[in-house]
Amino acid sequence: ALVVRHRMRCSGRWARAMAIIREFEENCGTPIGKLRQVADAMAVEMHAGLASEGGSKLKMLISYVDNLPSGDEKGLFYALDLGGTNFRVIRVLLGGKEAGVVKQEFEEVSIPPHLMTGSSEALFDYIAAALAKFVATEGEGLHSPGRQRELGFTFSFPVRQTSIATGNLIKWTKGFSIEDAVGQDVVGELTKAMERIGLDMRVAALVNDTIGTLAGGRYLNPDVIAAVILGTGTNAAYVERAHAIPKWHGLLPKSGEMVINMEWGNFRSSHLPLTKYDQDLDVESLNPGEQIFEKIISGMYLGEIVRRVLLKMAEEAAFFGDVVPLKLKIPFILRTPHMSAMHHDASSDLRVVGSKLKDILEIPNTSLKMRKAIVELCDIVATRGARLSAAGIVGILKKLGRDAVKDGEKQKSVVAMDGGLYEHYSEFSTCMESTLKELLGEEVSDNIVIEQSNDGSGIGAALLAASHSQYLEVEES
Ligand code: BGC
Ligand code: MG
Repeated sequence: ALVVRHRMRCSGRWARAMAIIREFEENCGTPIGKLRQVADAMAVEMHAGLASEGGSKLKMLISYVDNLPSGDEKGLFYALDLGGTNFRVIRVLLGGKEAGVVKQEFEEVSIPPHLMTGSSEALFDYIAAALAKFVATEGEGLHSPGRQRELGFTFSFPVRQTSIATGNLIKWTKGFSIEDAVGQDVVGELTKAMERIGLDMRVAALVNDTIGTLAGGRYLNPDVIAAVILGTGTNAAYVERAHAIPKWHGLLPKSGEMVINMEWGNFRSSHLPLTKYDQDLDVESLNPGEQIFEKIISGMYLGEIVRRVLLKMAEEAAFFGDVVPLKLKIPFILRTPHMSAMHHDASSDLRVVGSKLKDILEIPNTSLKMRKAIVELCDIVATRGARLSAAGIVGILKKLGRDAVKDGEKQKSVVAMDGGLYEHYSEFSTCMESTLKELLGEEVSDNIVIEQSNDGSGIGAALLAASHSQYLEVEES
């Protein structure tokens, strides 16, 4: 009788755990009709954000980039790429039309976690020191004496720019939270830190990573019209017609164009499929109420959503047995790369899933049935994120009138894409691309190309530093 009762209890648990997954799946649903509503809402918010400052959750920030790289850029330039858990310092030797990028070197430096939530001075001192060390490895003859070195600064957070090389931080996102930097000119902060250690370098361009990726992409392919980042965070930038930006009161640029940093991570709409797990994650995050689109799409959060559902299954359905695994209670312990490894487990006994559960969550014994359920959970979370990012891209194409074939004319639209989520989570990127096809139809999607850019944002920033160099006028005249 004991055995029978035990079995019954187990199957009751199993049913309850599955009910939790099913309910979650239902609330994460992204049928095509909903995706179309999201794409439409994105296009509507784009209009609103361009119409007036504060007109929308989408900030639609003016980048002051009104000319994308032409290929003529020449000289030695540095770039600094700050935006995730690592930052990168880059040195690029540009050789103009014929030669292109002659030489490119970089170094990656990880940011100690305490600096991500400390003081502005401490963060910028650390970055400036790493940059100075890198400059010291330059080697003879690359740099013309008497000329100040110049830098393109890729800063992957929302910034209200006042020129190509100045801009105030609006807020931090992702894992950063440094109060005293908010509202400050980040170029000023970096410049002061460089001065403190005696590094003579001028910031010639301040760019978001989407803008850097767009510039780097355009340098290689003239059909690039937008850039999307799917990484720790998510965002998009695109080329807008200057006269379609009512809130822009400056001179109309000669090119007639202006690149816009959408900050789409902050998009929000009643059409987004949000669950109670998402609401809890948001409330407990560093930036409650903000970056809602980002929190259901990007790499910083996907693993955390999975953890939250698993915890619920453990607590309310004893999914892992009578005791709730302690590690499962630690926020952000299950990272998206772990989730991706489990999701891609192709072994018949799902041993990767088993070993992740053991190594990360210290859950030793799991049945095949349990592992299968966990893979399914990963699939639900990744699918929602991938399909919503496709809807976001369709929103941009709509805004640009590139979501349909006009007068039989076939115009190519290339979207430069970067970020670790897209690069390393193939279930995610495959789903994103098939959803794009599903939304656009075959004829249109034949002319939409997603082009992976491998850290194009660094090169892009260096290119923009080159085209905004203080020596340009002198050399040209
Ligand atoms: C930031 C954007 C950035 C994106 C991708 C977001 O959290 O707000 O500025 O482009 O992450 O790095
Ligand atoms: Mg990056």
